[in-house]
Order: sequence, then C-alpha cells, then structure tokens
Amino acid sequence: MTFKTIIEPFKIKEVEPINVTTEEERIKHLSEAHYNPFMLKSEHVLIDFLTDSGTAAMSSRQWAAMMEGDEAYAGSRSWLKMEAVIKDLTCCEHILPTHQGRAGERILYGYLGGKGKVFISNTHFDTTRANIEFSGAEAIDIPIEEAKHPMLEHPFKGNMDVSELERLINHYGAENIGGVILTVTNNSGGGQPVSMQNAKDVSAVCKKHGVRFFLDACRIAENSYFIKHRESGYETKTYKQIAQEMFSLADGCIMSAKKDGLVNIGGFLALKDKSLSDACTNLLIITEGFSTYGGLSGRSMEAIAVGLQEVFEPDYLKYRIRSTAYFGEKLYKMDVPLIWPIGGHAVYIDAKAFYPHIPVDRYPGQALVCELYIKGGIRSVEIGSVMFGKYDSNGKLIPAPNELVRLAIPRRVYTQSHVEYVIEVFEKLFDGKEQVRGLKIIEEPKFLRHFTAKFERANP
Ligand SMILES: *Cc1c(COP(=O)(O)O)cnc(C)c1O
Repeated sequence: MTFKTIIEPFKIKEVEPINVTTEEERIKHLSEAHYNPFMLKSEHVLIDFLTDSGTAAMSSRQWAAMMEGDEAYAGSRSWLKMEAVIKDLTCCEHILPTHQGRAGERILYGYLGGKGKVFISNTHFDTTRANIEFSGAEAIDIPIEEAKHPMLEHPFKGNMDVSELERLINHYGAENIGGVILTVTNNSGGGQPVSMQNAKDVSAVCKKHGVRFFLDACRIAENSYFIKHRESGYETKTYKQIAQEMFSLADGCIMSAKKDGLVNIGGFLALKDKSLSDACTNLLIITEGFSTYGGLSGRSMEAIAVGLQEVFEPDYLKYRIRSTAYFGEKLYKMDVPLIWPIGGHAVYIDAKAFYPHIPVDRYPGQALVCELYIKGGIRSVEIGSVMFGKYDSNGKLIPAPNELVRLAIPRRVYTQSHVEYVIEVFEKLFDGKEQVRGLKIIEEPKFLRHFTAKFERANP
C-alpha cells in the first residue's frame, strides 16, 4: 500500500520553544538590524529558514556517540572513526578534518589559486568564490543554459556546461586552471542536482587536459536521491553507492558537514594525491589544528561519523526531498514565481518576478526577505545582487544574473504545520505587493557583503 502523506521519520524527544512576536515588534527588530536578517537576534525569529547549514537536529544516536568523544590532541579514537567513514564514502586516501567547509576551501583553493589562476564551476558557492578571489584568482560559473531560466523544467539543472568548460580550458590554458569544481547539489543555483553523466563528462574533460577536478560535496546525499529517481541506470543502486561512484570521478572533495553531515559544526577535505595532501596538511596545522582534529573536538568528530551514515538512510532522504518539494509545490500552485523544479534543501523564490516594480539596484530580493520577516517572522536570505553584485569603475551596480530569495529548510527541525504556516504567510504577501519598496545599501564590507551590509528603505 502506498500513501500520499510522507511523515517525518522520527519522534521529537527534546523541544526548544519558539518566541512568538507581533508584526509591530518585528518592524522594530528589523529596523534595528538595518534591514539585514543576518543581524537579527535568533530569539526574534519565528521560523528560521536563513540556512540549512549547521542547523540540523541531531539524532539520539549522534548524541550518544558524542559521549564517546576522545579528546586526545593526537590520534584520537573519534578521529579514526570519522576518517574511516569518510575514506569509505569518498574513495580518497587522504582526509583532513576542518572546522567547517570554508576552512578546507581556504586551504585548498588558497594553495592552488593565486594571481593568474582560474577556477571553473557549475556555480561557486559564495564562500568558495570569496576564498578563490581572496587568493587573487578568478572564479567563473558555467551552469547549463537551462539553469538560467527559473521556471524551465529540467531534471538536472545543476549541471555544468561541458562544452563551455572545454572552451575555457583551451582559452586560459590548462596550466592556468586552479581547479574545476562541481557543486552538488548546486546551492547558489537553486539547490538543483547534478547528474552522474554530467560528473562523468566533466571528469573526462579534466582528465584529458590534466586539470584537477573537485566536488563541493556538501549535499552529496540529497544529490544521490535525485540521481536514483531521475537518471536511468541508478534505480537499483543505494544512495551511498551513487555517492561513492561520483566521488570516484574526482581528485578530491570539500564538504561542509553542517549540511549532509547532519551536525552543527565540522567539515573535511578529502584528496587522492599525496603531495597535494601534504601541502594542505601544512596549512591545516598552521591555522586549523593538528591533522587529527583540524579545529574539531573529539565529540564533534563522533557526531560527524554517525551523521554521514544516517544521511543516506532511504526513509530520511525520502522525507527530506519530498517535504522540501511539498513546500515548493504549494507555492508554485499559488503562482509564487520560483525556481522549478524544487531542489533538495531549499525553495528559491524569483523576487524579480514577484516584485517587478523594484529595480535590481533597489534589491527586490532583499525587499522580499524583509516582507517575509515583518509579515511572518520568517528569516530567509537574498541570493541575488546583494550577495553577488559587483560595481563597475563608475560605481554602478553590475547585477547578479538572478534576484532570488532562498528559504532553506533545516534538517529534521520543523514539522509540516510550520511549513503550512509559511505557505499562509506567502498568501498574505500578495496583498499590496505593488506598494513594497526596495532598499539601498548604506554600508558594506569588501568581501561577502551580504553578511554585514546595512540597508535603508529606498524612496518609491
Ligand atoms: C555551506 C557551503 C560551503 C561552505 O561551508 P561552511 O561550512 O559554511 O564553511 C561551501 N559550499 C557549499 C555549496 C555550501 O553550501
């Protein structure tokens, strides 16, 4: 017998109360946060869809494992457990623990990058791009054409444009390519999956030119779900086998365990090449910690070892992907413009289409983020020109390709009625949406400006 309803495959044994706020209070909180939800206090947020990073609820098995944490500085038992799980999963011989994904990015891309180097990705995540650009290198995004059309149906909209990859390698010269990075699933590109065929094609082009190929594997389990159910030839494989096959195509990977590791902190760098791993280990020890903990406690490493196995459980992945889709499909039926089909970890609203009267230099995405908070206490994040906009030499904004708002769903945290509430808030956003005003930036840092930029309401 099959059922339409997909239940949360867990029971709740510990709860954290949510503070209920009024619209009046939220108007005040948002203005004090300079219209940037990153500056809100979490206690002022009702439903926190800011990120799925480090926000998962851990299982009783993970909490039990944490009690076993071996806090030895060197050669910790917990490290050996974590290392064994990652070696088995990634097919890599050399594993470096890091406190989160970006620490691995800074080490690897800092080492391979520098002035004159070029990195190519389906889409670089914001911290990936920042670490590459900070090293002096250039980061180029080449998603497939379909990815540029939010409503266009395609099973693997996270794919990389392989012919453009070949063209770019020939154009810049293989010796100047710092690395090719496939982000699975493609976070900034709508949480869309990458097919195995695309990973194989990218791998083949990289091998042909002698260019290094890495996976940004934060959501490799969610990506494997899509492959099993959308790509022929994978129906009978397990999710883990699919992930292992993809890892086997690359020279290594970076993973933030705060996503599919189902933990609140942690990450790793996994490499096949010993000399590259030796160079990275030196850098790891300088800033992160010794090579058997890399900034993590023994307890955290225990939780990662369990989380990386739990995330491949079929009931969990089915609930995870179907519950995200449920949320997005409801919005789609209400004619909320969004990235279609729905990705793995988040729903991405097309704010330019929702607020067509707000010009891109008045940040329609940020305007929607503010409305979601004021009307419903929902925290979300702009993925558009606030995050990726640049200025030309005259100080004029070069906008991002899309003005999106991401509602990222923490893993195992919210129930279906929380989601129903968010859907109801969206219904209310349709009233008077033509009157919503944009924002202007009044203060911003040089890198990753979306985290700390301050805004003001723009005039109509
Ligand atoms: C989160 C994320 C990172 C960075 O990881 P952190 O743990 O936040 O430092 C890199 N790439 C992708 C695709 C991510 O989602």
